[in-house]
Order: sequence, then structure tokens, then C-alpha cells
Amino acid sequence: MNTHTPLKSDFTAIHAQLATIVGAGLLTAADDMAPFLRDWRGIYTGNAIAVVRPANVDELSRVVALCATHNISIVPQGGNTGMCGAATPAAGAHAIVIGLSRMNRILDVDALNNTMTVEAGCILANIQQAATAVGRLFPLSLGAEGSCQIGGNLSTNAGGVNVLRYGNTRDQVLGLEVVLADGRIWNGLRSLRKDNTGYDLKQLFIGAEGTLGIISTAVLKLQPRPRSQVVAFAAIESPDAAVALLAMLRARCGDAVTAFELISRPCLDLVFKNIPATRDPLGDRHDWYVLTELGDAGDDAALQSRVEAALTESAEAGGVLDAAIAASGAQAAAFWKLRESIPDAARIAGLIYRHDISVAVSKVPDFIRAAGAALEARFPGTRVICFGHLGDGNLHYNAFVPGRDLADPAARAAIDVNCVVHDVVTGMGGSISAEHGIGVSKRAELARCKQPLELELMRSVKQALDPRGLMNPGKIL
Ligand SMILES: Cc1cc2nc3c(=O)[nH]c(=O)nc-3n(C[C@H](O)[C@H](O)[C@H](O)COP(=O)(O)OP(=O)(O)OC[C@H]3O[C@@H](n4cnc5c(N)ncnc54)[C@H](O)[C@@H]3O)c2cc1C
Repeated sequence: MNTHTPLKSDFTAIHAQLATIVGAGLLTAADDMAPFLRDWRGIYTGNAIAVVRPANVDELSRVVALCATHNISIVPQGGNTGMCGAATPAAGAHAIVIGLSRMNRILDVDALNNTMTVEAGCILANIQQAATAVGRLFPLSLGAEGSCQIGGNLSTNAGGVNVLRYGNTRDQVLGLEVVLADGRIWNGLRSLRKDNTGYDLKQLFIGAEGTLGIISTAVLKLQPRPRSQVVAFAAIESPDAAVALLAMLRARCGDAVTAFELISRPCLDLVFKNIPATRDPLGDRHDWYVLTELGDAGDDAALQSRVEAALTESAEAGGVLDAAIAASGAQAAAFWKLRESIPDAARIAGLIYRHDISVAVSKVPDFIRAAGAALEARFPGTRVICFGHLGDGNLHYNAFVPGRDLADPAARAAIDVNCVVHDVVTGMGGSISAEHGIGVSKRAELARCKQPLELELMRSVKQALDPRGLMNPGKIL
């Protein structure tokens, strides 16, 4: 292949060639490109030669092949709701951003096979609605579902609130179509539940954050729609009691437990202070809470009595201190609003050091104790904001450190707090990124915390699929 790196003066020619492929899908004016060049939190901003929005896989493939010819890097972008700066080009990058939003068709729904075939730019909420329309459930659910795209969900292997029962995005996929770094299209769009024909290539692209290829289409698994729903909000004595309650609920209700979230009191205090129309569902103040949702194919009353039995058993053991079971959909939504408002409430409160960690579910209480002690020893007076998907061993363990201020760029860039928490995590065999990915923000910590051999194997995969390093450079590795 004849390759060269174009000078700035060549951009006009490249723009013309891109326009030939995507027509009005090409954006080159600074104002039009601006939203694609910064992440949604406004932490990362970058540059691009153009933003290109192909309408179908053929256009996408031709754009990627053109970039390969001209040695231009590619930053794939979905809904741009990612937490780690992975969808934003670097400052001064010789790159184009490929936005997938025009590739948003639901191509097929096969209710009997429980599958749906969708283009990568489909908004997650639209996929959920299409599943509902045929009496099925697409269980992936997260706070950004109104704007994130399935291609972004796949590329970050997103988690969300239903992982406990259904697994994360990786578990929701049967087949993929991917445009490779040289523009070739790999068609792995199989709808098979059994296929043992060698390496499972699709799994390489899931969670790869656009560093190995661009996902263009996916075959997703659908699930039976639960008929009953019970949502409970309980004050508990401690994280240990929460882990015990989860075990009791699962013993009595089995796979009906779809979500089990841990919330510490400082999280609720932030929500009540900063988020309008929120209030405490329970009378007294407690240190820890859980929010749990259950659903199955039976009726609400039967499920609710099993949940009540588990709550009572826990209360008798001193675990549950108080509890409310939602009496209506509106009340269930109000309980969930408390949980989903925590990130916004914390953002309003100032400079917060975020962590998206996981450890074995049984080790969560030990992690909370050990991380709290380590932070207090190094940064006395640290205020911990701890919440997350306890059922998955995944905590958003965040911290306000005294004297650290949003206005101070050095404080914003510091990773000393992260290092303290991540050292505790790795010491317990955990992960420094449970669901948000690595992107730019956790790249240095990945290099520090991941086993050298694992990093070497990841580099080998990258080299095999993207030998010239054009796919989303500077992300993950
Ligand atoms: C309010 C809120 C709540 C959230 N809650 C959760 C949560 O509970 N769980 C969770 O896991 N995440 C959560 N997130 C983070 C975010 O929504 C997810 O990471 C989501 O999967 C990103 O999807 P996106 O379409 O916005 O991807 P983007 O942010 O656009 O991109 C993310 C990564 O995927 C790559 N990419 C995008 N599309 C493609 C494609 N077609 N092919 C190849 N690479 C591609 C990008 O290059 C980038 O590396 C939340 C975010 C917000 C704002």
C-alpha cells in the first residue's frame, strides 16, 4: 500500500475525498466539530482533521481504507458518554473522528430466536424499546441509556444495573460485524448460541475501546420479559450485612435478583442537598443502605412475600435496620432516582477523585475498611463517597480530599489518591476498572497495576490487528 503522512495543506484534498464517500456526513467547520472534540465531562479536548459520519458499513469501510492509505489515525465515537476520555482525539492529533450516529437502524428482530440485529449507532434506549415491542427484554441498562450507543456499549463492555443477573455487555452479544484497521469488513454476524469453531474473535473487539477496529453491526441476545417487579430500599447495619442480605435474597429468590446496589449515607446527603425533588424514603438516619430490584415470571405478590421473608430474616440477625418496598412504579422510580443522582450530586460538590473498582463480592466489606484506612493515613480528613453495584463486587469508591480544589489544575491532574485506592484493590486481586474502561484517564494506572505479561499479550493482539497503530492511538496501551 502506498502511504504517506500529508502536510496540513493536503487536508483540502482529503476533505474532498471524504466528501465523495460520505457527502453531508463530513464536518470540517470548527463549530460543527467542537462537540465531537471534547468528552462529555469537559475534561479532555483534542483536534481532528475532520469529523466523518458514515451512513452505512460500505461508507465506513471506504473511510477507514482512505485513512489507512494516508496514515491518518481514527477515533471512533458513539454517544460520547464515556468516562475515560476514550472517544476524544488527542490535542494536535493527526486524526479523524468517526461518529456512528447515522448508522442507527434496527435491521432485524427475531423474537423466536431471541435476537436483534442492530447497527452500531443505535441508541441503547431505542434498542430496549424495540425489545419491549416484541415482548422481550434487552437487559443492558445504565444512566446514559438515552444517548449512549450500542457500539460504545460494546466497545467499553458497559456494565450498568442488571449485570448481577444478565452479565455485562460482553454477555449480551452473539455476533459482530467489524471494519478492520485496513478497511476490510469482517462479517461475524452469527445468531448462534453454540459455535465452537476456534477463537471467539468478537470478544477481542468488545471492551477494546475502538483500538482494534470499528464495530458496525451486532447481533444481540434478548431475554424473556419479567412480569413481576419488586424494588426495595433498606437501611443496613454495615457492608457485611449487605453481603449477607444479598446471599439471603438469592437463596430465597434465585436469579430473580437483578440489581443490588450499596449506598453510603454521605451519598444520600449529597443527593438531598444538590438534587431537587429527592427525599429520604426511611425515617431515621443510617450509615448504609441497599437498593435492590427483583423480577421474575410469576406475580408481584408471590415475589414480594419472598423478598419480605429475606428482609425479615436479615432484620432478625441485626442486618436490616429499616426497609421500604415500593408500592408503585412511581415510588420505585423515586428509589432509583436516589441511586442514579449520586454522580451528578457529587460533581456539583467539587473536586472528587473517582474509582470504578471491583473485588470479589465477599471481599467488598474488607475493601471498604482497608481503602478507608489507607486514605485516612495518607490524606487525613478524606470524605469517602461510596456506592455501586455490590452484587457485582463493583464500587464507585470516590473521595473528596481536604485542600484539593477544582480550580487547581495540579489537584485535578493528581493521581496520588487513585494510587492509594488502586494499591488496595490490586492487593486484594481486584480490578482498577470494573465497567468504565481505561481510555486516557487510567492508562498510566493500567501500566502500573496490570501484570507485565498481560500487557505484553495485549500489545501482541494490538500489533496483529492494527500493525500501524492507527486505531484510537493513545488509548488503553
Ligand atoms: C450518566 C451516566 C451514567 C453512566 N452509567 C454507566 C454504568 O452504569 N455503567 C457503565 O458501564 N458505564 C456507564 N456510563 C459510561 C458510558 O455511558 C458507557 O461507557 C457507554 O458504554 C459509552 O457509550 P457511548 O456510545 O457514549 O461511547 P463513547 O463514549 O462515544 O465511546 C466509548 C469508547 O468506545 C469507542 N467506540 C464507540 N463506538 C464504537 C464503535 N462503533 N466501534 C468501536 N469503538 C467504538 C470509542 O472510541 C471509545 O473508546 C455512564 C455515563 C453517564 C454519562
